Amino acid sequence: MRFLVDLHTHTIASDHAYSTIGEYINYASETGIQMFAITDHGPAVPDAPHKWHFNNLRVVPRIVDDVAILRGVEANITATGGLDLEEATLKRLDIVLAGFHPSLTPSDKVTHTELALSVIKSGLVDVFAHPGWQMYPIDMEAVLECAKENNVAIEINSSSSVNTRLGSHENCVQIAKLAKKIGNTIALGSDAHICYFMGNFDESVTVIEEAGLGYSKVLNTSPVKVLEFLESRGHERIQELHELFVPISY
Ligand SMILES: [Zn+2]
Ligand SMILES: [Zn+2]
Repeated sequence: MRFLVDLHTHTIASDHAYSTIGEYINYASETGIQMFAITDHGPAVPDAPHKWHFNNLRVVPRIVDDVAILRGVEANITATGGLDLEEATLKRLDIVLAGFHPSLTPSDKVTHTELALSVIKSGLVDVFAHPGWQMYPIDMEAVLECAKENNVAIEINSSSSVNTRLGSHENCVQIAKLAKKIGNTIALGSDAHICYFMGNFDESVTVIEEAGLGYSKVLNTSPVKVLEFLESRGHERIQELHELFVPISY
């Protein structure tokens, strides 16, 4: 299976990541990634960029060297079931990932599930990031059913149990099995913190294969599939990206 899109990357705007946007673009160009989303951490984690970073992402060109760039965020779920950026900022972005991060003190499964359902229902989140993290256990079935109902994609994160969130592999397989049963839309993210990991979906593929999930619901096989999914979520059509990916007819 060939993946042309990476929906989860971090640049040096997050202090614990090590590549610039330019380095990601070059690496995408070299390796055949046609589209990637910049999703730096929302401001609630200590080494994240200031909220102005997200308001100003509009200065980032949508296309460089034939590589498409989506302006995004990996927002943090707050203790009140909200997100750590204002609604107006989130709505200006092309893609919003949200997940649990250490900015939220872990509590119990019931609480985490309530918070997850709250952000999924908010209409502001396109992708629920790394739902398999065992530090924040959730009622997987309830969360995936809610995501399906609200047209929110479930991420199968390729850094989980490899670079971070060690020990979450079994949870991720369980989630992938449930996603198969429920019919969730799936977003793959390398969660790269350095450009050389972008497009590395080895762990995601292992999880998908173990769960027998298949690839028909995976967005990353086609940039157009990603654009259409985002439009189905209420994002504005990005005409220049559609034009970039128009199939050539002779
Ligand atoms: Zn994360
Ligand atoms: Zn991340």
